[in-house]
Amino acid sequence: TALSPHSFLRLDAPEAQPMSNVFYRSSKTYPVAQKAEGIYIWDTTGKRYLDGSSGALVANIGHGRQAVAQAMAAQALKLEFVHGSQFSSEVLEEYASRLAQFLELPDYRFWAVSGGSEANESAIKLARQYHVERGQPERFKIITRVPSYHGASLGALAASGMGARRELYTPLMRGDAWPKMPKPDPQLSGEEDAERLRAVIEQAGPETVAAFMCEPVVGASDAALAPNAGYHARIAEICREYGILFISDEVMAGMGRCGAPLAVRLHDQVTPDIVVLGKGLAAGYAPLAGLMASPQLYDTVMGGSGAFKHGFTYAGHPVSVAAGLSVLDIVESEHLVGAARERGAQLLAGLQELQRQHPQVLEVRGQGLLLGVVLGDPTTRQAMHKAGLADQVAARARELGLLTYPGTGAVDGVRGDHLLLGPPLSLSGAEADELLGLLADALKVEG
Ligand code: PLP
Repeated sequence: TALSPHSFLRLDAPEAQPMSNVFYRSSKTYPVAQKAEGIYIWDTTGKRYLDGSSGALVANIGHGRQAVAQAMAAQALKLEFVHGSQFSSEVLEEYASRLAQFLELPDYRFWAVSGGSEANESAIKLARQYHVERGQPERFKIITRVPSYHGASLGALAASGMGARRELYTPLMRGDAWPKMPKPDPQLSGEEDAERLRAVIEQAGPETVAAFMCEPVVGASDAALAPNAGYHARIAEICREYGILFISDEVMAGMGRCGAPLAVRLHDQVTPDIVVLGKGLAAGYAPLAGLMASPQLYDTVMGGSGAFKHGFTYAGHPVSVAAGLSVLDIVESEHLVGAARERGAQLLAGLQELQRQHPQVLEVRGQGLLLGVVLGDPTTRQAMHKAGLADQVAARARELGLLTYPGTGAVDGVRGDHLLLGPPLSLSGAEADELLGLLADALKVEG
């Protein structure tokens, strides 16, 4: 079947849809999800989808876990809400300590919020307040990379190097506050690659820079691109040398998805000043995100104005935190970090095989269960941005019952042509094979 330009449509959906009061994300037609179990989601027509992307790399432990639902219900019955300006809560105290141990950041402090954008907004403001407390208010710039995605709120979007998401909202926040560095170059050694940060700092004016922020393994903007070993260690050294904070945005890559508790430590023993987390934290059972701040940051802020001048009403919501705690129990007791490494290796080998069979697959890459398939013109070896091959393959996959996460923007103004794969870390070997089989069929669409 030839696919229409709107091929994200459920082609088997009835033509006439009844009026809906839902404000959809786009004019496409969406199937209505009904239930989910394990790695599968069913819609109201009874169609089953293999969740090959964990939604947006969220459902790390799979769907339908009774234990998490029960923990949330028990928490709601015991204490459903307190406000962070008045109380901590038992569940938050326990979770923060468990999370710090899991991440091997034993003396870091957990600042809880509800989503990744809020978490990055918090990281940016914390970095800036830190410098203000130290008498350096002129340090307001946050260096990030192109491409990158750090969130949808205006600050996090200004930090993001992702044209497709930014262009309708320009001018964003003060342009010179967000200097950009090029993406990792796998041709360079990790150290040489990281050294390029120096020129960006020098050009921005070292005394004006508050922080450097990056995704240790890139997510939506560049399909699982990762720098070589040595990169993050050198980045941390350069940041220290200039008095700049190092923020690792692990909203997508963190919580074990890449096969390590901290994605920034996959190859280097490095300790960022702030680690930003989201998505897999409560694995979709409730909105939960946050950041881990170093003791130095915490002490500077508390010893200065005595408060982080920032906060959201639902921060540290007890039911979300109870979900996070139960998810962490499952991640640890089922050894899902190791499983991510093992299943990731299986899927990567399968993707390499698909690459041999399908010339439009230009590259496959990934760390653990954060995997990228870069598509393009087999003759020119260039990405076919205009043709949107990734969208076509994703649409075909969806028809066949496989969900993937097509890339929505690489470099400013240019659409990326790649798919992200990131099934639940709990997927079995047989399920991984099923995913590969469906993807192989989906790749048969014409480029
Ligand atoms: N940071 C990264 C690396 C992300 O991948 C995302 C979401 O895709 C965000 C931040 C924003 O998170 P949220 O959509 O939960 O606000």
